Amino acid sequence: MAINRKPTRRVQVGPVAVGGDAPVVVQSMTNTDTADVEATAAQVKALADAGSELVRITVNNEAAAAGVPRIAERLNALGCEVPLVGDFHYNGHRLLKDFPAMAEALAKYRINPGNVGFGDKQDTQFSMMIEAALRYGKPIRIGANWGSLDQALLARMMDDNARLAQPEEANSVMREALVASALRSAARAEELGLPGDRIIISCKVSRVQDLIAVYRALAAACDYPLHLGLTEAGMGSKGIVASSAALAVLLQEGIGDTIRISLTPEPGGDRAEEVRVAQELLQSVGLRHFTPQVTACPGCGRTTSTVFQELADKIQTYLRAQMPQWRARYPGAARMNVAVMGCIVNGPGESRHADIGISLPGTGESPVAPVFVDGQKVATLRGPHIAEEFQGMVEEYVARRYGN
Ligand code: SF4
Repeated sequence: MAINRKPTRRVQVGPVAVGGDAPVVVQSMTNTDTADVEATAAQVKALADAGSELVRITVNNEAAAAGVPRIAERLNALGCEVPLVGDFHYNGHRLLKDFPAMAEALAKYRINPGNVGFGDKQDTQFSMMIEAALRYGKPIRIGANWGSLDQALLARMMDDNARLAQPEEANSVMREALVASALRSAARAEELGLPGDRIIISCKVSRVQDLIAVYRALAAACDYPLHLGLTEAGMGSKGIVASSAALAVLLQEGIGDTIRISLTPEPGGDRAEEVRVAQELLQSVGLRHFTPQVTACPGCGRTTSTVFQELADKIQTYLRAQMPQWRARYPGAARMNVAVMGCIVNGPGESRHADIGISLPGTGESPVAPVFVDGQKVATLRGPHIAEEFQGMVEEYVARRYGN
């Protein structure tokens, strides 16, 4: 079943389109000190190489602001053209004014309406950030967040709710306040002259059901492109599962124009993991294709050796590594399905359904591995070099089917 995306405006972030009929964009964020130009440029490049189409960097102080144009130059020298998004809290109005080269080098400004200033300074400081967006011709993201919700707005909405004959639960008022905060800020930005097609919105929360409710409300209330993400998703499988559970429901309903998976990396872990998870999520719901899918069985007592796990891993790594060249050389190769199966029970059937598949011998089976191409058995591999031979067959298949 094809997913019909909710129509939104199209916002141009440098060369990358977000919203409208553009594909859902994958983005990520660095965790280096932005003032450390070398480390930040290296991480931005690694994220972009992994497939991040926008990369956000924090701009939290003067040293970071001064570093931004140097990061952009360094990336340019490395041949990396990924648009940089500046993440501002508290002092963005001042930094955007005092560091024009930074304001120019960024492709988008993220503004958190809960952190833009307090009391009577809030509107002035917000206006200064919108003026910078106007002066430099940049789009913005109004990025509201549960953890930094506009407290004055929340207090007013809680008071109004308390006066109702049948008040709503506090949690639901908080969700409404988050949506109201983002939409009011977007309306104010438009009043200040920023065109509506330069505004993206997000309202991030850390619980799955809250995120789904908030984004359904946002999608019903506006046609700004929506940036989806579960904030503070957590570490490892917990973060991946929670993000996927929330985002898959919304994406399936056609909601969401760009996504970020906010994983906490393991100490020393690879930051680009969040990019791969975002890609895999979009690919598994059928919205985009980044890398050929490898269908591998989980293994069971019928296959006690690790041969098929190693082969599945090898093939997956190989396909991922080929994609940068294949994308240009073999258009459509990312849609290919490859099966690597552990025994005769489901192996031949699953391999027949794939574009190319191999069914390895289970424990006690004859040590041969039939290979299927487009549903037909084409070869039987045996001996110690099955992995290399199968890889060669995949390569030939890609060149034949997707070449020219
Ligand atoms: S295909 Fe064979 S080895 Fe794989 S899970 Fe099924 S029965 Fe087990």
